[in-house]
Amino acid sequence: MPQLKDIATQVRRDIVRMVHGVQSGHPGGSLGCADFLTALYFKVMDHKPEPFDMDGKNQDLFFLSNGHISPVFYSALARSGYFPVQELSTFRKLNSRLQGHPTTHEHLPGVRIASGSLGQGMSVAIGAALAKKLNNDKNLVFSLHGDGELEEGQIWESVMFAPHHKVDNLIITVDLNGQQIDGTTDDVAGLGDVGAKFEVFGWQVLHMNGNDMDDVVATLEKAKSLTGKGKPIAIIMKTVMGQGVDFMEGHHEWHGIAPSDEQLAKALAQLPETLGDY
Ligand SMILES: [Mg+2]
Repeated sequence: MPQLKDIATQVRRDIVRMVHGVQSGHPGGSLGCADFLTALYFKVMDHKPEPFDMDGKNQDLFFLSNGHISPVFYSALARSGYFPVQELSTFRKLNSRLQGHPTTHEHLPGVRIASGSLGQGMSVAIGAALAKKLNNDKNLVFSLHGDGELEEGQIWESVMFAPHHKVDNLIITVDLNGQQIDGTTDDVAGLGDVGAKFEVFGWQVLHMNGNDMDDVVATLEKAKSLTGKGKPIAIIMKTVMGQGVDFMEGHHEWHGIAPSDEQLAKALAQLPETLGDY
């Protein structure tokens, strides 16, 4: 199997090509989370792409709460065998199963909730984790959230709920890139010490560099080892928005705009093709 870092590079190529192809979509957060999604789908999760089972019994589940970073999600799903890689070329097109924000209506394998309305995915992940307990299913539930997304009130209801109910088969990750649609999170609504906030609500908190593959894998494995001990787990993941494409790195402007032809060429020159383009 190719190295995880090589897979992440191909995922980043897919992201910029998909967004460029329709001149629409969200490259910044997608690029920042490429290492995390690659580690999850190619190493950490116990999951079964084929045949896709919506209920996901006896396998690990992942819920993308910040649904606008669908390019990285779709690439990770296709590359790990949920649907044909060639289908990435239909991203955001009419009647495509790969809508701008993931939906379940199109029955795209790997997508178990519609997301895009921010703040809801943690509640869903908690519900799925509780269902696994009721079903005596020992597998785990993972989710990903943006830091801007933490401004949604429903998030904090979930943050309060999960420790109270000892949802200890749940590993949520916050993409702490410090950026959101309108600027830096500090400028829009400062989050303060996110890890300390989760901790004081009763979560087991871990920190990792989301753009260092070794750290990502090691921290996710550590998180798995801490499940079943009475506390939900939150990983505070530092990433750089746009990671991997130098002119996109660290700029909130790349939250939701597409590269031009010239910018695409520049981006692809930094991201060698490793698995073959779609
Ligand atoms: Mg952000």
